[in-house]
Amino acid sequence: MTEYAAAIDIGTSGIRAVFLNCDEKSAISKIQTAYHPIPGRNILDQLLFQNHSGLRNTQKLLVNTINNLIDGFDPSKEIIKIAVCANPGQISLLKGTESRDLFLNPEVLKRKGIKAPIRTSEVIYSADLGFDISCDLLIPPSISAMVGADAVALIYNSIIPENKPTLSIDLGTNAEMALKAGDKIYVGSAAAGPAIEGQQIRHGMPASTGAIAGLEYDWGWKIKILDENMNLSNGDTVNLHKAAPIKKGLVNAKGITGTGVIAIVAAGLSSGIIQPPNIYTPSKKIFLQDQIDFSETDLIEAGKAFGAIRSGYHSLAEHAGISVDDIATCNISGTAGCFADPLNARDVGIIPQSAGTIFNHGNTSLQLACSLACGDTNISELQNIADSAEYVSFSTSKVFQQYFLEELSYWCEGRYKKSQKNFQIPKIVLLPDKWATDNIKTVNPAFGVKASNNDTDISKFKGLCPNNAITKEDTWFEINTGKCAGTACLRCVDEGLDLIHPQI
Ligand code: SF4
Repeated sequence: MTEYAAAIDIGTSGIRAVFLNCDEKSAISKIQTAYHPIPGRNILDQLLFQNHSGLRNTQKLLVNTINNLIDGFDPSKEIIKIAVCANPGQISLLKGTESRDLFLNPEVLKRKGIKAPIRTSEVIYSADLGFDISCDLLIPPSISAMVGADAVALIYNSIIPENKPTLSIDLGTNAEMALKAGDKIYVGSAAAGPAIEGQQIRHGMPASTGAIAGLEYDWGWKIKILDENMNLSNGDTVNLHKAAPIKKGLVNAKGITGTGVIAIVAAGLSSGIIQPPNIYTPSKKIFLQDQIDFSETDLIEAGKAFGAIRSGYHSLAEHAGISVDDIATCNISGTAGCFADPLNARDVGIIPQSAGTIFNHGNTSLQLACSLACGDTNISELQNIADSAEYVSFSTSKVFQQYFLEELSYWCEGRYKKSQKNFQIPKIVLLPDKWATDNIKTVNPAFGVKASNNDTDISKFKGLCPNNAITKEDTWFEINTGKCAGTACLRCVDEGLDLIHPQI
């Protein structure tokens, strides 16, 4: 009898679930959410919501959403295994376990007696987490609290030419990176997420529908926007100086996601409009479309994120005893990695100039979950990778600090970088995803809440919400978590809406 399984990838920008035929080792269908079901604009917001709302309440929101995704698969076919790949924060949300070690400093943890959970690989009974179906649920290991299963997935999938130093970067909330040099693998995590995920950018947004995710030169800059199926569609064609488009596009934009930020900065640097920290247009802004622009303040925020990543791989190289110019190959993955143009990434410095070949893997986290669920990968192999990698803490690394200061002086003060060797344009290899399917559906998660004093006045709550995230259903209010800022806002909570205890 044919065996079926489900693979789940939980990212800050949403959940992707794939229904698998284990005998044919292929994907039947994919259902993804347009945004994360827990309110907040980044993983820290989501973890703070967990801290406010409680482990169980938050877990229920996440698991209910996954149950709904699995419900959308063919119910006549029994799922015998589930594999979930995600960073340590998302795994804590899924399991309803302690996550404060991810955002409190060690001194505070010690004073409060908070113990960090062990994050090795696990096989859990899915029903114990609240899943509707009962089967084994596999979770691959993390390397450290800051370097999760996404990085293990990338190392597992990385293409490493013999004896050549190879850098692998997962562009997501954190830029998790691994450098293979000789027999050793050094890993670290640079806090690049805020800008790479479009945060701390005035018009920033996660990688969801309406996000500007790239630019393409076509007698003007054609804006590439994520559509409802998370494909890149054509927006307006613009010249970056003026608000009016050269040519109207097919789709509207709501904001800029991280890969859009990378593309804008790369276009600005190559055209000379950007010379950090300045933007040389009359308004000191780069105009995109639908009143969305990119300012000098945004440029500095983006530069800090790019600088953190560049400082990260320089630190790994120094720890490995090699020069960064020895890095011959680079593997990139992650949500941002899927849409980022590798040449743009190289131009802004998040891929070393020396990389002669760049392999773009797409979403290795989801690919690893598929491979685990179908039995192509053994979970103990992944634990071996996690155990053998040497973690380099950038927060305490003097080398990182030295490079990061240099980067800040370039992006924030306009001091020139040390001269760099000229390397040839790299070969870009877009790797096929054997778990890809054309049968993709996108859903919008939401949850229901009531007012603690039975207030049902929608106009009051709607008027309060700066993001228009609240709508009225029969006897409750529905919260659109793609719009809700969560614990960074809580205005409706002050007026009595019980956001902290979702009921429906
Ligand atoms: S008012 Fe409430 S629903 Fe609206 S963004 Fe703030 S917390 Fe979210």
